[in-house]
Amino acid sequence: MAGEPQPDCLFCKIVSGDVPATIVRETETTVAFRDINPQAPSHVLVIPRVHYPDAAALAAAEPAVAADVLREAGEVALEERLDGTGYRVVFNTGSGAGQTVFHAHAHVLGGRGLAWPPG
Ligand code: 5GP
Ligand code: ZN
Repeated sequence: MAGEPQPDCLFCKIVSGDVPATIVRETETTVAFRDINPQAPSHVLVIPRVHYPDAAALAAAEPAVAADVLREAGEVALEERLDGTGYRVVFNTGSGAGQTVFHAHAHVLGGRGLAWPPG
């Protein structure tokens, strides 16, 4: 069924607790945890508990949960004190854009200057 946990999905295993992560926030529908290979002083991933391969698939199937992910990205930025300096929320979509984990996730990045456009 759509949204069901996938046995080979790393982020589903973080949701279930089978793979450890440094969790910074949790809600009924989302989990936020520190990226294992941070690209900025603050780099947190916000994921839905349900499994969809990318943000667009999540938004199409469960728009309320996609909104929860966005709201949580903002809450993470507040907790990490990134709102004053600015921060970036990124959904890499497709391997050509750097997506490596095919469970929808938002990167929340901040704590340093962020160039635009990105590389
Ligand atoms: P993507 O490249 O798909 O947009 O983002 C996947 C992110 O997951 C990468 O930034 C990568 O560093 C992170 N990541 C990969 N494996 C793990 C892990 O086991 N734990 C955590 N916390 N992050 C991971
Ligand atoms: Zn998954």
